[in-house]
Amino acid sequence: MKHKVGYDPQAGAGEAPSHPDLFDKCRRYTRAREVMAAGLYPYFHEIESGQGPEVRIEGRPVVMVGSNDYLGLTNHPRVKEAAIEAIRRYGTGCAGSRFLNGTLSIHHQLEERLADFLRQEAAIVFPTGFQANLGAISALVGKPDMVVIDKLNHASIFDGCRLSFGQIRKFRHNDMENLNRILATHSDQAALIVVDGVFSMEGDIVDLPALMPVARRHGARVMVDDAHGLGVLGAGGRGTAEHFGMEDEVDLIMGTYSKSLATVGGFLAASEEVVHFLKHSARPLIFSASLPPGSAAAALAALDIIEAEPERRERLWANTRKMAAAFKALGFDIGHSQTPVIPVRVGDELKVLKMWRRLFDEGVFASPVLPPAVPPGMALMRTSYMATHTDAHLERVLSAFEKVGRELAVI
Ligand code: PMP
Repeated sequence: MKHKVGYDPQAGAGEAPSHPDLFDKCRRYTRAREVMAAGLYPYFHEIESGQGPEVRIEGRPVVMVGSNDYLGLTNHPRVKEAAIEAIRRYGTGCAGSRFLNGTLSIHHQLEERLADFLRQEAAIVFPTGFQANLGAISALVGKPDMVVIDKLNHASIFDGCRLSFGQIRKFRHNDMENLNRILATHSDQAALIVVDGVFSMEGDIVDLPALMPVARRHGARVMVDDAHGLGVLGAGGRGTAEHFGMEDEVDLIMGTYSKSLATVGGFLAASEEVVHFLKHSARPLIFSASLPPGSAAAALAALDIIEAEPERRERLWANTRKMAAAFKALGFDIGHSQTPVIPVRVGDELKVLKMWRRLFDEGVFASPVLPPAVPPGMALMRTSYMATHTDAHLERVLSAFEKVGRELAVI
């Protein structure tokens, strides 16, 4: 690693008036180092094994409840074989964008598969889910338009809004009255409503049956980010729209392969007309290299398993019900969680960091969630479950939470 020891940005500035140093903010940023010095730093920990319900960190086994690998497919032999086979056939990358030299037959296969699976006319594959959100919102919402978003939506939706030239309006979390008022006040603007299907930190589900009539009354279009719903919700694992029996109603579905689909990448699924437009206007698609073939093949194999093995989803939900009931019985506040994402609300940031450290000492890896990912004073310990957690794993998690929860007076 190179250190620029003694580098003086002002050297050679001569007589010219000197600018303030842009990097001053890096020098002033001490918070993470303070947390490191206190032994409470929870980020960038090295995992020495593959992903799974149990991983090895610092040479010892730790139960993982901080992963989004809901169906446990990230290390599935068939998924891995499919990726290896695609790499043999196509290579490790595409060296270009979908738009020009980077479209492979496996991308088209995946797009057809996703469109069929989600009962949409068409789909377009992106390098990541983050880019899919940036691309859809920035391409669709132009200067005269507005985008209306739930306050607890994912960061990539907020950033997509910032990239768009339209008006950004936010409604209170899952509050359709509030949404209705905003749409009624600005009826002169074409509107895109964007919501998470499953909210990634709180684990609750968007109130789609209440949202859709509001959207239709005002002629607004609806986009659902189903990152955490795909593979998890609905009898066939098709996500939030299937869960509510509303597959024909949502206008645009965004998804990722970085959770139930076992790899990395994203997509948008909608009518042929909308997908055609996005293919020719979404800048994160056009100006970024396309999804590597290994990831496309892994996502295809994961979709096959999702369809062929519904028992994985059943096991995931059995684990989820068990953990939600057990946390409540212990006296933890799990908010409005309705899914395998189960947050434990703590409030104070330092307490969450201490809790993370103590849980880790007890052999459990959970995810501390601090502002700005949640509002100030609302820090929480996010846990999430997999089909591949055994009862023994879950018992270890519960006894660690009980012990640490009492020590830190969270319960
Ligand atoms: N939306 C939501 C709700 C997410 O949780 C995430 C991933 N954390 C994304 C979008 C971005 O997806 P990706 O990981 O594919 O970039």
